[in-house]
Amino acid sequence: MEAVSFEQALGFLGETVGALVVADQKTNEYRSVVRRGLFADYLDEEGKYEDLVQKLWFHFGDTGEEITDQYKVFIPNLSTFVGRYSKRVRILFQDVVHIVQMTIHPVKDTGRYLFVLDELDESESVDEAATQKKVSTIQNIYLFSMYFDLGRNTTSSLSLTEVSNETMNSQISYTDWRMMIVNMMWDTDQDEFLRRSDPAYLRENFTPGKTESFDVQMKNLAGEYIWVKLIFSRVETSNADDYRFVYMVQNIHETTVDTMAALKRYEELASRDPMTSVFNHGRIETEICNAIEQCRKDGSQVAMMMLDLDHFKQVNDQYGHAIGDATLVHFTEILREVFEGCKAAVGRWGGEEFVALCYDTDREGIETLAEQIRSEVEQTDFTGVGRITCSIGVTMLRREDAFDSAFERMDGALYDAKEHGRNRVSFA
Ligand code: GH3
Ligand code: MG
Ligand code: MG
Repeated sequence: MEAVSFEQALGFLGETVGALVVADQKTNEYRSVVRRGLFADYLDEEGKYEDLVQKLWFHFGDTGEEITDQYKVFIPNLSTFVGRYSKRVRILFQDVVHIVQMTIHPVKDTGRYLFVLDELDESESVDEAATQKKVSTIQNIYLFSMYFDLGRNTTSSLSLTEVSNETMNSQISYTDWRMMIVNMMWDTDQDEFLRRSDPAYLRENFTPGKTESFDVQMKNLAGEYIWVKLIFSRVETSNADDYRFVYMVQNIHETTVDTMAALKRYEELASRDPMTSVFNHGRIETEICNAIEQCRKDGSQVAMMMLDLDHFKQVNDQYGHAIGDATLVHFTEILREVFEGCKAAVGRWGGEEFVALCYDTDREGIETLAEQIRSEVEQTDFTGVGRITCSIGVTMLRREDAFDSAFERMDGALYDAKEHGRNRVSFA
């Protein structure tokens, strides 16, 4: 073979690779020495090093969208390399996904890096597609994992160690990482995260091999909050001074959302009267207690009323229990309509007796509303029954009230309405 000069060798390299870029972390600059094919348009001749890192790492390969701002605090850590580093990235450019092999050579002791970028063609990227699929699947479960060492206060493998051969040379300390990642958590989850990721807490509570997990809401790269399980596990070791941990983030969003929805449904069902679907006795009683408590605390204006159908026994006797039931359902529909737009809670106290709470109202307001119900019922044609009426006892909660005193006052008002001829509203 003929002798080849260094310059010639460099020339060959320049002719075969897609791009050669020299970057300087200290001055935050990069310059493209060679740009061809995809890179002719994708890379600028020169620019900020941070922008280059962001371009190559912080976007979604298939959509080209940028990741949410909070994650960009990691850019400085992702742009430091202490050894040679190689990675495949997916780049969306002009609606086509390109697969790029990227190798970064740190230039010793200079803070400079040589980036070698090559686009892989289809045959080269078949494997890539399969790997990518596997990565996506696992990433759906484990979004993120890393090691950290409390002894040296370091982190490593800020990526999925199981599925990627990346050897990320992260320079971020564990204590710094903690204070950065906490900003990705939902406000009210931040204290819990800080407590449970505190180095002192981890040292005290984790024997070798011990694992703990807890659930929080955390921003994903796209900026949406999702439910995740955070797992901390101390490495199994016989050295009592070895405080290495594995940290993992597991995506549990879908199951958590489903479970919560189911719980809410069950909770709803458990607090409803099955026939009329207004609150049942237990739930409306709780609402009354809460309202009394609220009124005691801040003097909230809450009204309470008891409604009882007049001569309802006769309805059953004359038309049968089924018609009676339908009448009760129809009655609660009227209540729902009248209370629509007010902050109110309606419950079935038992039989043909109902209790309603109305928040943020005064005596005048509640008497008008009760009168509206009375007259609406009086004018309604109940299927199979015709005309019926109801009596209503109304009271305002008082600051000094306990459950019994408030309830007796309301009950007394209802008794008064019945005494004075039914189909009327009484206030006490
Ligand atoms: P008043 O005007 O004094 O309230 O007379 P009333 O007949 O409505 O009063 P009473 O408390 O004596 O009777 C209530 C009746 O309500 C007894 C029962 O037949 C009927 N009732 C209670 N619960 C139900 C129910 O779930 N379905 C039906 N169909 N009727 C019920
Ligand atoms: Mg009755
Ligand atoms: Mg009754």
